Amino acid sequence: VAPPAGKPKWLRVKLPTGKKYTELRGLVDKYKLNTICTSGSCPNMGECWGEGTATFMILGNICTRSCGFCGVKTGRPETVDWEEPEKVARSIKLMNIKHAVITSVDRDDLKDMGSIIWAETVKAIRRMNPETTLETLIPDFQGIERHLDRMIEVAPEVISHNMETVRRLTREVRIQAKYDRSLEVLSYLKQQGAHRTKSGIMLGLGETEQEVIETLHDLQKAKVDIVTIGQYLQPSKKHLPVKQFITPDQFDKYKQIGLELGFRHVESGALVRSSYKAHKHIE
Ligand code: SF4
Ligand code: SF4
Repeated sequence: VAPPAGKPKWLRVKLPTGKKYTELRGLVDKYKLNTICTSGSCPNMGECWGEGTATFMILGNICTRSCGFCGVKTGRPETVDWEEPEKVARSIKLMNIKHAVITSVDRDDLKDMGSIIWAETVKAIRRMNPETTLETLIPDFQGIERHLDRMIEVAPEVISHNMETVRRLTREVRIQAKYDRSLEVLSYLKQQGAHRTKSGIMLGLGETEQEVIETLHDLQKAKVDIVTIGQYLQPSKKHLPVKQFITPDQFDKYKQIGLELGFRHVESGALVRSSYKAHKHIE
């Protein structure tokens, strides 16, 4: 398939504006707060920040894995900053965030895979921001139950783990990950009593409609509550190419299929990111 020329018009976005956005942007710049929204220049900043939602990355910004779609640097990560839970909690307070999404790089280098800092971060946020609701977008912790249990114990409102793509493309897209292991993680979290579980996939990497539908079925079997489906965009020339731009009608079709399968929420659209409209997912 020849690579598609130029971005279609539905992917062009307006620059974020609004009073709340400007105010938060000022705080983030002043205190050098580490949000994914700004570091990934997410197109939804105006909307999310306006609604009091932001995404924070913990455990550094160097990842032990090297997924073909991801703009995060790969290498040997920095040492763990035990002050980080407090720092994130303070950022959330400063920004007056109503719903925070926390995510991290994968820390396969650590014995606990980072799960202790994860749990401590949730606890620190709860202490400092008792009103703020939380989504934790976690790595697979290599499927190790005692690490996943730490997340169950701190009980965020939503626990998410992204499949990112369909079964056939997993090897190419997330080289160190496994499709079935990710499904097992989601399934285990639910069995252990997670309030809400959530997963996301990106489209445009060469998957077929049938494969997307199969993934939705797999997520349904894992008793996942919320699904996000968005367009993959190439972070740089070194990353996997975009094979296809999915049309708005096709995204609507997947949303319909997902709702018919019984998911509680399905966000499906070109600009949907895993944390897009995340505050709605606790309703
Ligand atoms: Fe931030 Fe996620 Fe919203 Fe983008 S979609 S602005 S990363 S919260
Ligand atoms: Fe990026 Fe996550 Fe893959 Fe690391 S594990 S390269 S942060 S997608």
